[in-house]
Amino acid sequence: MAASPNGIARELAALVGAEHVLEVPAGSEYNHDLSRRRGVEGRADAVALPGSAQEVAALVGWCYDHDVPITPRGGGTGLTGGAVPTEGGVVCSLERLRRVRELEPSLWRMLPEAGVPTREVQRLAREHGLFFAPDPGAAEQSQIGGNVATNAGGPHALKYGVTGAWVAGVEVVLAPGELLEVGGWAAKDVAGYDLRSLLIGSEGTLGIITAVRLRLLPAPAAAIALVVFLGSREEGCAAVDELLGSGLRPSVLDFLDGDALGPLAGSYPGSAPDGAGFALIVEVDGSRAEAQAQRAEMLEILGGFPMVADEPADQAALWRWRDGVNGVLTGVRGAKVSEDVVFPRERLREGLERFEAIASKHGLRSCSFGHAGDGNVHATVLVDPAREDELDAADAVSEELFELVVELGGSIAGEHGVGSLKRGRLESQWPRRALELHEQVKRAFDPKGLFNPGTKLARYPAARRSYQSRKEAR
Ligand SMILES: Cc1cc2nc3c(=O)[nH]c(=O)nc-3n(C[C@H](O)[C@H](O)[C@H](O)COP(=O)(O)OP(=O)(O)OC[C@H]3O[C@@H](n4cnc5c(N)ncnc54)[C@H](O)[C@@H]3O)c2cc1C
Repeated sequence: MAASPNGIARELAALVGAEHVLEVPAGSEYNHDLSRRRGVEGRADAVALPGSAQEVAALVGWCYDHDVPITPRGGGTGLTGGAVPTEGGVVCSLERLRRVRELEPSLWRMLPEAGVPTREVQRLAREHGLFFAPDPGAAEQSQIGGNVATNAGGPHALKYGVTGAWVAGVEVVLAPGELLEVGGWAAKDVAGYDLRSLLIGSEGTLGIITAVRLRLLPAPAAAIALVVFLGSREEGCAAVDELLGSGLRPSVLDFLDGDALGPLAGSYPGSAPDGAGFALIVEVDGSRAEAQAQRAEMLEILGGFPMVADEPADQAALWRWRDGVNGVLTGVRGAKVSEDVVFPRERLREGLERFEAIASKHGLRSCSFGHAGDGNVHATVLVDPAREDELDAADAVSEELFELVVELGGSIAGEHGVGSLKRGRLESQWPRRALELHEQVKRAFDPKGLFNPGTKLARYPAARRSYQSRKEAR
């Protein structure tokens, strides 16, 4: 809907065209992301859909001149409230920046604009025999700019790294409205501080990414995925250690604990044994011969464990099953509260055990799943959204989980970002001097504090942090 030509909207219309400025009714999707269930909602004064990097620069320039907050928005699939205009102002949606400016198959590289959907980047690479390795779960809706801004992960991050590992450079609009490039195609560059890495994962708080130089790889000829069912969490974690300790490099090493596996067993697209207490989803890749050899080696390594390995004939169905985890677990009791955290891998078993004990102490049913090889766990409690006591208990579980993660030397955020939901939690993880540097970096890039205010704050009063599982559940 075009905005009535008044106030901010009229001014923005002069920059990007009236038809590209939207009115924002209270329920508009531009006021939230997928953390809405957790109560994170904003109220944008206007949404602007710039059609070029130059228009983004003009928008930022206008916001900086007028002290108006500006929140970049990609596909809106974030789970931590990063793209939410919690302090009002302008939402800058990148959805019209959808051009792929360069695709050079022989040089293994691509330069998409920020608004190109992740799936499109993956598809284009494949069409040219190449491979864009990052595979975050909402690839149909998320944008490459959003993936870079959150440094998104996914199952293949174990072997290939997170999104930032594939970013050679970013085109970005910085305060007070300047378009520039950071990084480039040079394979090695240590000439200055690594500004590119500062922008990767900055969640829209330092500038607005308008295009990304991506490195690609030749696509592996073959990938074989197996599900390995084990008797218990103890055996499952020991199997992870054995596999990785052997020097094998699986491309994926995901897990589901017994409590996650139970509700999912019925929809498994192969033959799942009864009573399994842990499952590993393992993928190996390479040339056909390499993949087969690694598969055999993996089974040999796991031969010491009582386990059942299953290789579903329909491998695509296996990944659809894995992608369906969230929906199935939500359905068990009507709602779930899931936290994205990381344990050092050698403390994975302890982390999972102690998380279960925390949930149980608070009377809640829990389960865990995620990327075992990275120690990246989606620690989950299953709740009845109508039960106030369970929702309060879920808050308490999350608090204790974050304390546990820090005690074990892990991280309060593995791949979903900090957004507004986890603001201030870094304070328990980093030393004071590092927190100060974090804040100084923000001020250096954004002296007026207008880029996505309220997001990714290193420090924030705990009393105002209200953890809102109650709203998530609804
Ligand atoms: C079903 C499901 C599965 C998921 N699986 C994964 C997963 O496996 N791994 C994972 O890492 N995440 C996962 N996510 C979370 C989410 O998809 C990722 O965080 C994704 O990278 C967000 O991209 P987006 O384009 O939707 O960004 P948005 O949600 O729109 O924004 C995310 C953050 O990036 C900022 N931003 C967006 N675009 C730009 C830009 N051009 N310039 C500067 N800042 C920008 C926003 O301000 C915000 O802070 C999943 C989400 C869902 C719903």
